Amino acid sequence: MVVRIKFLGGVKTVTGTSHLVSTDKSNVLFDAGLFQGRRDEFYRQNTALNFNPRKLNAMILSHAHIDHCGNIPVLLKGGMRCKIYTTSATKDLAKLMLEDSGKIHEEDVKYVNKINRRLGFPPRKPLYTRKEAGLAGKRFYSLTYGEKFCVANNVFVTLMDAGHILGSAVVVMDIREGEENLRIGFAVDLGRKDLALLNNPVIPEGLDYLVIESTYGGRFHIPVDEGKAKLKDAIIRTVNRNGKVLIPAFTLERTQEVLYFLSELFREKAIPFVPVYLDSPLATNITDVFKYNLSYFNPRIQQEIKNGQSPFELLNLTYIRDQKESKALNHDKRPMIIIAGCGMCESGRIVHHLQNNISDSRNTILVVGYMAENTLGKKIVNRVPFVRIFGVEYQLNAEVVIINAFSGHADKDELVDFVKKVNPRRRTFLVHGDIVQIQALYDTLIQEGFNVYIPSKEEELLLN
Ligand SMILES: [Zn+2]
Ligand SMILES: [Zn+2]
Repeated sequence: MVVRIKFLGGVKTVTGTSHLVSTDKSNVLFDAGLFQGRRDEFYRQNTALNFNPRKLNAMILSHAHIDHCGNIPVLLKGGMRCKIYTTSATKDLAKLMLEDSGKIHEEDVKYVNKINRRLGFPPRKPLYTRKEAGLAGKRFYSLTYGEKFCVANNVFVTLMDAGHILGSAVVVMDIREGEENLRIGFAVDLGRKDLALLNNPVIPEGLDYLVIESTYGGRFHIPVDEGKAKLKDAIIRTVNRNGKVLIPAFTLERTQEVLYFLSELFREKAIPFVPVYLDSPLATNITDVFKYNLSYFNPRIQQEIKNGQSPFELLNLTYIRDQKESKALNHDKRPMIIIAGCGMCESGRIVHHLQNNISDSRNTILVVGYMAENTLGKKIVNRVPFVRIFGVEYQLNAEVVIINAFSGHADKDELVDFVKKVNPRRRTFLVHGDIVQIQALYDTLIQEGFNVYIPSKEEELLLN
């Protein structure tokens, strides 16, 4: 049997995950993530498809993060006609994420074209529009965890809970020919043990090959309990100062995890009962999907929700979709917690909240996620004395608290432990990480005696 894997993206870097598995009879794509980077590189990388999307027989989607699903509309524009197999929660979440992504591309192009017009350059087109992104919804076909399904000639797929975000999957592909069976597993992205809302990742058995992420291949997370204690202390300090707590929201999963810890702290009466605002239409819509997908939570959360203790239905929690209501919070001087939509603090509603609150030393900016270089979020993390917002300079007087405990990715110990438990018969491929993290994981796995390989972009390998 001849099986090939081509690493199309998300190798030696964290964004743009996509891998193509081919046999003589079929082509199956695993993920179609958006490559994120500077504008020109972003267009070049996301549109340079080095395969024909028309020839795909099936696509499998691991989860709804944009670095895994964000390039699906480009493939559809390029002629992809096959079904996209995923869980039903991912299907609902990916639709929201893709439409939002389309909206961002339209807005970005509008902004760039304003400048281009002034400079006499030709106008650009968005990578895809919101409408084009909406077409992806028609391609999704949902599978339940554990169901083995024939997606293409001789190719069977089983999705297992990855414990990374709601609906995320470790994907197992069985390729059969006569008596032969080749089993490839994809753990991209892999979750953590004992996350607040989700189940622990499932360990696939009998793999010949494993493709695994390396985001935190060389790092160790601090325990979730320490993060909760830090969250509690920051809220108490801020409320005692009569200030506001601003949390730039990472809309999918991290926001819902933060809501869960807030609900626990309120229930334990560990923090004052101040109002909480979730100020983001996307995060609000995503939280709705969480509410309707009870079966994807761990049994403890399912029971709590059945007992009327849903972290998404707090009495002091208000969901804000309307822009006017969002702006009205600027005039409300009570202590409060605002979780607001954020693109690393560069866009979204968090920007006007920062503008209004960043110079007041009573307030706190609580960072719970990754901020990329050269973003306002990163400047806040670095606690620079002055920041520019909408062209105006503001003094950064608010307290800045950074909590790294709420990550949804396995850390080094958990990745190594996963590989040991899976114990692939032939080889492990390390992807989805910057090279320092990948190398750290590689060195440890080699020491442990595993056959490990770090593929390059566009590299094609024969699996046998
Ligand atoms: Zn992810
Ligand atoms: Zn990812």
